[in-house]
Amino acid sequence: MTTIKAYGASASTEDLKPLDIERRAVGKDDIKIDITHCGVCHSDIHTVRNDWGGSSYPVVPGHEIIGKVVEVGDNVSNFKTGDLVGVGCLVDSCQTCPSCQKDLEQFCENGATFTYNSVNKHIDGTRTYGGYSTMVVVNKDFVLKVPENLDPAGAAPLLCAGITTWSPLSHWKVKKGDKVGVIGLGGLGHMGVKFANALGAHVVMITTSPEKGKDAKALGAHEVLVSKDEEDMKKHQGSFDFILNTIPVGHKMDPYINLLKIDSTMVLVGAVEPMEGFHGGGLIMGRKHVAGSLIGGIKETQEMLDFCGEHNITSDIELINMQDINNAYDRVTSNDVKYRFVIDMASLKD
Ligand code: NAP
Ligand code: ZN
Repeated sequence: MTTIKAYGASASTEDLKPLDIERRAVGKDDIKIDITHCGVCHSDIHTVRNDWGGSSYPVVPGHEIIGKVVEVGDNVSNFKTGDLVGVGCLVDSCQTCPSCQKDLEQFCENGATFTYNSVNKHIDGTRTYGGYSTMVVVNKDFVLKVPENLDPAGAAPLLCAGITTWSPLSHWKVKKGDKVGVIGLGGLGHMGVKFANALGAHVVMITTSPEKGKDAKALGAHEVLVSKDEEDMKKHQGSFDFILNTIPVGHKMDPYINLLKIDSTMVLVGAVEPMEGFHGGGLIMGRKHVAGSLIGGIKETQEMLDFCGEHNITSDIELINMQDINNAYDRVTSNDVKYRFVIDMASLKD
């Protein structure tokens, strides 16, 4: 065990503070990573504040981890010291159940081990602590190669915001010419816009914030639809091939379902909580679908990172010091982030 510096919350009502945590010794299958950057996901805030229930304290958040390999175990041949690597939301799974066999470790039928607020049940029974820390030890099968041409700070959010938006676009086979709506211009939404644009779709940013319109276009949206503008919503009725919904809280779905074409799908990724009811007719009259999606498996995450390397796609970020984290949380919850905070972990090491 090694004691390292981290930032975490000791209760749902407390600010994040410096604390010491233990990391396990590097096992045969492990990789030790010196963390250089970690993105700030809205899920970190939901977990710290126990919005979804089930948080176990202290919580050390952070699942958009970038760093350098500093040590590898005897069985590790796919990585070497000095490699630029990433760790996302998953650090382990059973690797044998039908979901894991299909590269869907996020749906491991024996319970995936998440990067924080989880238990290393196949390893040593310790709790997992995330990337708001100086170092992490992770099983080699859950470490991602980060293309060296990408800026490491801008690449950090790809590990969660990136894969969470890439996976549904890929699973629902969004293609050139499709009219794709992305709801919510935050961390996830801005990556959704970039990816949908890169796939050749006609991208419409659906937002509650008209002032974000200019940014949305710079990020790759072809049109901006302000969801509070009923007239504009009517104009787009029945016209979307696919909608990616990143709204972080429960909300009325009917206005968005109305935007879908016959046979098309809206995928929820944001609201992990009860949703307001919706009118069944909205789906029935048009054979429409509402679906959900959770991050992505390891193989798919690597494919996404490779695509980002080829197309030079990274996140638009604001780099902060670890000590600024509580202010950053307030800004995310008050919808004031452009478009992802990333922590420069050098600030925790000094
Ligand atoms: P974020 O940066 O806070 O962005 C969310 C955006 O949604 C906001 O920028 C805002 O965009 C819009 N919005 C916020 N409150 C709204 C409301 N009440 N009604 C309508 N729109 C609202 O959050 P994020 O990091 O992108 O995460 C989004 C959600 O996805 C969070 O709940 C997070 O926990 C979840 N998540 C899920 C997965 C998964 O695997 N499914 C993975 C990561 C995160 P506008 O100003 O443009 O309206
Ligand atoms: Zn996340």
